[in-house]
Amino acid sequence: MDATPFPFGPHALPVLRRRYLARDAEGRVVETPEQMLARVAGAVARGEEPWGGAAAAREMERAFLGLMSQGLFLPNSPTLMNAGRELGQLSACFVIPVEDSLESIFEAVKETALIHKSGGGTGFSFSHLRPAGDVVASTRGVSSGPVSFMRVFDMATEAVKQGGTRRGANMGILAVSHPDIEAFIAAKRRPGVLENFNISVLVNDAFMAAARADGPWQLVNPRDGAVARTVSAAGLLEQMVQAAHQSGEPGLAFYEAINRGNPTPGLGPLEATNPCGEQPLLPHESCNLGSLVLPRFLKDGEVDFPTLEEAAALAVRFLDDVIEINRHPLPQVARASRLTRKIGLGVMGLADLLADLELPYDSPEAAALGREVMARIAAAARAASAELGQRRGSFPAFAASRLAGGWSHMRNATVTTVAPTGTLSLLLGCSSGIEPYFALAYTRRVLEERDLVEFNPRFLARLAALGLDTPEQRRTLAASGNATAIQGLPPELGQVFATAHEIDPEAHLAMQAAFQASTDNGVSKTVNLDAQAGPEQVRRVFTRAHALGLKGVTVFRSGCRGRQVLELLPLP
Ligand code: UDP
Repeated sequence: MDATPFPFGPHALPVLRRRYLARDAEGRVVETPEQMLARVAGAVARGEEPWGGAAAAREMERAFLGLMSQGLFLPNSPTLMNAGRELGQLSACFVIPVEDSLESIFEAVKETALIHKSGGGTGFSFSHLRPAGDVVASTRGVSSGPVSFMRVFDMATEAVKQGGTRRGANMGILAVSHPDIEAFIAAKRRPGVLENFNISVLVNDAFMAAARADGPWQLVNPRDGAVARTVSAAGLLEQMVQAAHQSGEPGLAFYEAINRGNPTPGLGPLEATNPCGEQPLLPHESCNLGSLVLPRFLKDGEVDFPTLEEAAALAVRFLDDVIEINRHPLPQVARASRLTRKIGLGVMGLADLLADLELPYDSPEAAALGREVMARIAAAARAASAELGQRRGSFPAFAASRLAGGWSHMRNATVTTVAPTGTLSLLLGCSSGIEPYFALAYTRRVLEERDLVEFNPRFLARLAALGLDTPEQRRTLAASGNATAIQGLPPELGQVFATAHEIDPEAHLAMQAAFQASTDNGVSKTVNLDAQAGPEQVRRVFTRAHALGLKGVTVFRSGCRGRQVLELLPLP
């Protein structure tokens, strides 16, 4: 076989060896990164066989391998880890239903454990559980309520630890009308509690309007629909603002925006998302994500759109084949996932692309380019799914879906999602998702016992070209993590390399909105605030995100604890 180009970045190997590369019975790593890509391409291309036989599978295997080994695209981590291996579980995202009975709650705990073991992340709506202190007929006792049961999921997650590959991740969601909403909002304010959970409040337009008008808000017991209490809507929103200001949580999920994009309302409303919030799913659905690597599509100083569209179409075929060969961890998941065949193609490396084009992240031009890039990807991806639908059949729930009017066939109920790409971007040495640079020098904590120290290579190259890459400047850069203290740097360059905390929250939201405009599912994005930002800035971000029609919003104030995958640590 031809020598495969090596797409991985300088810090990929330890991560690949620890978690991705195949091992023998004694636990020794028995494949190279190139062999991993060949394993994945070969396994996924088997999904072609029912339609094109072995010949089609061989042809697509070459195409898939080319796409990955040129560093143009990678599927989500479970696909890289498990395709062509015994486990065979390839999806990153799951939503598990939790109904108002002990049986359902502990069945969900069991399902969660099995999914975590296989490398997937789980999200739950706890909105159907009766509140704490409510009656339990069979025992004449009282219920513990959603927050208390979340601890059971948390401890199960801690115990499973995903078989040493990745830690289990959960999203807990509670409706803003639930009587326990205040306890839920405050649940993560203390450190060390629910550490395997991200939490989001599912808010609706009526609540946001009531908060704006300083009106009353009814908390309703889901067991019998009775009003448990009436509170101030603005006061409740304020509790979310204060908690998010302090700890980065809860995030908000916007009910109407999410359900406007529900392709199959006949199968029920969307009430929960995956752990990082970008993928709303119905009970027992799973989703396979994949991401195109934007800076690799630059040609002569411009985005090469025809090549990007071609890659998007091929990536859709890849992700649809993943559904074919996926070994689902539970029969209920297999059933729900095959009914809608959801996939989520997105991007990574936006900040790198913008830096290469010398566009500041917070410029209108950058948002316009983001909008165009995602629109072109989405159009190509939808067309590819429609074509697959024609040849292989539409997803089984298609006829009753909202898509049936616009397209004659569609293989997948959703085709696009912008994932965080936390590990994928590390593997490829590119910036993550659509985030701006978090810092220009940082340690990236990816494995429990190891920190990776990195300078932004693009920034170093620019410094070198200007004769500014000196040990002293590097020390300055390492100490602050940003370009502001670099002596002699042209100001335009400072703007191009502005980091997440230097960028106005409004520009973060503008970029999220630019990508959301043509993304079927959600867009993973954190709105970073600097350490001095007050609660009023969090409030503004929450209300703006709602006004922009986003599906959700997450803030993170520098220095506050919480979901920090990247940590800015001064270097010695
Ligand atoms: N995820 C998870 N555990 C992790 C990281 C991610 O379960 O440690 C799931 C979760 O559903 C998340 C999705 O994978 O929303 C995508 O995350 P990301 O893009 O960061 O994953 P990658 O493919 O880069 O590893």
